[in-house]
Amino acid sequence: MSLIVQKFGGTSVGSVERIESVAEKIIGYRDQGHSIVVVVSAMSGETNRLIGLANQIQEQPTAREMDVLVSTGEQVTTALLAMALHKRGCLAKSYNGGQVKILTDSAFNKARIKHIDDSNIRRDLDAGYVVVVAGFQGADADGNITTLGRGGSDTTAVALAAALKADECQIFTDVDGVYTTDPRVASRARRLDKITFEEMLEMASLGSKILQIRAVEFAGKYNVPLRVLSSFKEGAGTLITVEEEALMEAPIISGIAFQREEAKISVLGIPDVPGAAYKLLGPISDANIEIDVIVQNIAADHTNDLTFTVPKNEMRKAEAILKGIVADLGARDVRVDDSICKVSIVGVGMRSHAGVASKMFKTLADLNINIQLITTSEIKISVVIDEEYMELAVRGLHKAFGLDKTQDEE
Ligand code: ADP
Ligand code: ASP
Ligand code: MG
Repeated sequence: MSLIVQKFGGTSVGSVERIESVAEKIIGYRDQGHSIVVVVSAMSGETNRLIGLANQIQEQPTAREMDVLVSTGEQVTTALLAMALHKRGCLAKSYNGGQVKILTDSAFNKARIKHIDDSNIRRDLDAGYVVVVAGFQGADADGNITTLGRGGSDTTAVALAAALKADECQIFTDVDGVYTTDPRVASRARRLDKITFEEMLEMASLGSKILQIRAVEFAGKYNVPLRVLSSFKEGAGTLITVEEEALMEAPIISGIAFQREEAKISVLGIPDVPGAAYKLLGPISDANIEIDVIVQNIAADHTNDLTFTVPKNEMRKAEAILKGIVADLGARDVRVDDSICKVSIVGVGMRSHAGVASKMFKTLADLNINIQLITTSEIKISVVIDEEYMELAVRGLHKAFGLDKTQDEE
């Protein structure tokens, strides 16, 4: 008999009918003799609805009250699912994060899990219950409700699986696995049977929302066998695995990720003196604004241009900070652009293959897409381009790197 943690995302529990069919699915697994802990998200659209309500009252509510509010979405689903299980004669008990106890730090809206007390869950499992836990939330040492960031139910599931030493953590969602790219953008995307933790981590951090990045980090760190599969369709889904177990002949590129939520900021005509970059970027990070791609060019007149990206919703805040510094520093101007996107190719196979970057650049050139910024690491290359060309770039690169499904596979 094995212990499985199963997570069902928003679409999978999006209506009473869907909650009832999730209950049927869980009972199917239980009848095979498995012990089951279930983690659920809020019903689809609910978290956004709650945020919308808050914003009708206050533009910037306190982070603490936001967490009290948005954590309720998951609690509703746990109770409904427990009821659907009861109706089918299955013992089940629901818990919110604090009740479990999932102890987090006090960083409201983006809390990190510090410890999980698994005694309630173990006791209930031993007594034959299916345990249903609200995803996305915990409580800090003072008992304040905290949430783990958007998409955080994935992290709850993986963290519980790690704490319980579960045999597998299964993430049930509205697609039947991890694809070479978002199948909603490229219809020729191909489902992967396996992907390495490292690649999944890059894909998640570069914008693929299929798994929350912290969930992948957690699974890698604690060696949690992690699988992504469909709530609606039978199939083995995608196993996230360590590199050695992955395809022996890894393809050069495993996947393509994209990120629409970044904006580009350029500071022009910065005097070429030591400390200038620090004077500009220090205050940005002091304001807790995350900086991503950074590029500096030197112009013929011995001034520098510094360009970097920040989350779109913090562009104006960053601009305001920089405007104050630019005058002092004697730089010429600050320009912002929020109509950009970042497209990245990811693959451990890149390590052993030369010419990947030039193939990427040629593909974009042939499509007449201008590259604004480039950044690389050992297993990824990212480019910043005009947002308008995102889908064209993703599909073009998908084809060029041989990732498209063949006619036979359709
Ligand atoms: P859930 O509500 O179940 O957590 P999400 O909406 O958070 O589901 O994540 C699933 C979505 O992730 C899919 O519907 C798909 O559009 C998107 N997605 C992005 N990149 C990928 C990818 N590489 N493979 C599969 N799905 C992806
Ligand atoms: N309900 C939360 C969100 O929409 C958490 C999750 O679904 O994973 O972000
Ligand atoms: Mg999600």
